[in-house]
Amino acid sequence: MRVDVVLGLQWGDEGKGKVVDVLAHSYEVVARFQGGPNAGHTLYWQGKKIVLHQIPAGIFHPHVTCLVGDGCVIDPGILKRELLAISELGLGWEGRFFLGRNAHLILPTHKVLDKLSGGHIGTTQRGIGPAYADRYARRGIPIFWLHRSDFESQVRHLAAMHAIPPAEVASWEDFWEGVEFLRKVPQVETPRWLSGHSQVLAEGSQGSLLDIFWGTYPYVTSSHTTIAGVVAGLGVAPQKIRRVYGVLKAYTTRVGEGPFPTEIRGLLARWMQERGGEWGSTTGRLRRCGWLDLPTLQKTVYLNGVTDLILTKADVLCGIPELKVRIGGEDENPSYLSMTPWENLDSEAFYAYIRLIEKSLGVPLYAYSTGPEREAWRLFSDAEAAKNIS
Ligand code: GDP
Repeated sequence: MRVDVVLGLQWGDEGKGKVVDVLAHSYEVVARFQGGPNAGHTLYWQGKKIVLHQIPAGIFHPHVTCLVGDGCVIDPGILKRELLAISELGLGWEGRFFLGRNAHLILPTHKVLDKLSGGHIGTTQRGIGPAYADRYARRGIPIFWLHRSDFESQVRHLAAMHAIPPAEVASWEDFWEGVEFLRKVPQVETPRWLSGHSQVLAEGSQGSLLDIFWGTYPYVTSSHTTIAGVVAGLGVAPQKIRRVYGVLKAYTTRVGEGPFPTEIRGLLARWMQERGGEWGSTTGRLRRCGWLDLPTLQKTVYLNGVTDLILTKADVLCGIPELKVRIGGEDENPSYLSMTPWENLDSEAFYAYIRLIEKSLGVPLYAYSTGPEREAWRLFSDAEAAKNIS
């Protein structure tokens, strides 16, 4: 078995869903290793825009088997709807969709707790943080309990501990229907199950700067979005990990509160928001925008042992009147390099940008994405070769 990893190097929304969709064809298994239905991977399949919250983006390849790994937390109602939507697209998932048995459940009361306590962090209020908190408090509900005879009483017991007035919990029916549905989805003992497959792609959600340990605490998510999450969330030994694809957007965005050293405001920020469609796929919130931040990326590249870079959304910057990159300085006082903006992705100016990124991060660029569609993708070596010939 070999495991390759796709993870985000910034604050999420780097375009990992599209990257996984493109890479998935050469893997047997695509496995999500952390997170819950807060992440929204947006991708395009046969011209349709699809947002996945829990199902790995590999699902659109009929030969690929997908796993929601043990490091994840699952909202049964949302997962049920997502699987039914996949069926409606005519894509069968039976026999190629599995759940890691140690993943935990999100209860309706977790969502209320999130609303009550997550506001200052800017969470998506999907109950994810409280579900992880219960997991670590050793009172959560792992999904292998779905098949225990005392499952219902365990759920009611935990919900009672949350002490939420019943009128504030809107969705028990949705929960129980989702539970009924999930009982039919096969669960696996992930480490053993994965060892029976040769090519595994681990799919991260959110970005490294939102990691619970290594992110910009407390404005972080509740799980390990870094490489540590692969080891913990899928039960994979580190030696099995080969390539680590670090996905970075050509500029930086951040949803919600928290530090953002290269943030910009005004016209250029609006350019990025409008051309890049920078609003959240889960919440619809407008994303804050700023320049690429190389010193911060150096840290996340190091932390994850990134072997290959994948650049996304450089097309969004085509024609931008001004272009800068942070190359140093303190977070409070960053220093920038002004770069020549590019009109198209064949221009020298874009190549200069890539060279600067590669040199600064000390890792080669594997590929870059040139648009949201699956076909909008170039291997960097091919692009270089074509350029040399022309
Ligand atoms: P993820 O959570 O990392 O998968 O990122 P999101 O799905 O939240 O956001 C990425 C958005 O950018 C999606 O709407 C993608 O369709 C889109 N996208 C991905 N790659 C590119 C690209 O290279 N260019 C453009 N213009 N859009 C892209």
